[in-house]
Amino acid sequence: MDMVDKGDGEEKLESVRPMELDPEFRDTVDHKTIGLRPTCFDDYPGQHRVKENLRIYVKAALIRQDSLDHVLLHGPPGLGKTTLARILAQELEVPFVQTSGPSIERQGDLAGILAGIENRGILFIDEIHRLPRIVEEVLYSAMEDFSVDILIGQGPTARTVSMPINSFTLVGATTRVASLSRPLIGRFGIQERLEFYDEESLAKILLRSSAVWGMELDELGARELGRRSRGTPRIANRLLRRSRDFAIFEGTKTISADVITRALSCLDIDKKGLDHMDRKILTTIRDRYSGGPVGIDTLAATLGEEKMTIEEVYEPFLVHHGFLIRGPRGRELSQLGFNHLTQVG
Ligand code: ADP
Repeated sequence: MDMVDKGDGEEKLESVRPMELDPEFRDTVDHKTIGLRPTCFDDYPGQHRVKENLRIYVKAALIRQDSLDHVLLHGPPGLGKTTLARILAQELEVPFVQTSGPSIERQGDLAGILAGIENRGILFIDEIHRLPRIVEEVLYSAMEDFSVDILIGQGPTARTVSMPINSFTLVGATTRVASLSRPLIGRFGIQERLEFYDEESLAKILLRSSAVWGMELDELGARELGRRSRGTPRIANRLLRRSRDFAIFEGTKTISADVITRALSCLDIDKKGLDHMDRKILTTIRDRYSGGPVGIDTLAATLGEEKMTIEEVYEPFLVHHGFLIRGPRGRELSQLGFNHLTQVG
């Protein structure tokens, strides 16, 4: 590694280099991140209601020897929608094709993807709310009749030809279900909302992740990290990754509660799992708008942050845990929010 360059400070090199060269730690590198995604229902902790429902629909589809009905998964980012879509393909033993709303610009692009779908295969469209409306229309007949209407020619001689496609399952994922059009929502036979995870489920996910990396994580540490991960597996794994770096730096394969506490303090994550931006949102409402209510556009402008990011990434957790109240006149700091800010100083 470049860090062994002789021109660098000796002391710093000494503390980093032994771990870099130790083959014992080779397994702990990030390429193993890929193995963090569970591949079956049994390996996927949390979301019990959603999982049990999907299990039944999958079993029934297998017995019927037919494609699974179209599935809409919605909820905040990082809760496992993509993971669940992949699990559905594994459990059904069908091919999986993944794309995303903003990456499909023209009707022809989507028609091409649909024409290539194998029988009973899964087409996963992430951020389906960002699919252009004109492209979305191609989905209507595809989802309902397994056919795609294609416009051939131009001007007065143009005509529409209906092309049959294989029966398939569309799995759509969205963080903004309210932005989906009625005709599209109506075509999803199965609609499930993913919820924030509890501490215990997150601890299970974290214990599994550390095992994948060949690291040890103690139970206490797993719970502490779970408590401070905003109920979100993606955040939990990210915080675990940083804690793992601290452990490796210190020359140990054990991610202890002590290592975690120090890592989270360096990352500015507080006892309730709120990060710098969460607290900035709350303090801005308290100090600039006397606790609110304040409209989302005004708040976004004051914070210099995208309105969509506040709405989709930060707000759901703050509202869910009662730090923030979302009312008709805007966002308001709750008593819990006030108290928390006083506690963290
Ligand atoms: P989303 O599509 O909802 O944004 P992802 O499915 O991409 O979320 O999940 C984000 C990360 O969290 C992935 O790395 C995945 O491995 C992990 N993850 C999500 N849900 C679970 C779960 N129930 N069990 C284990 N890992 C999970």
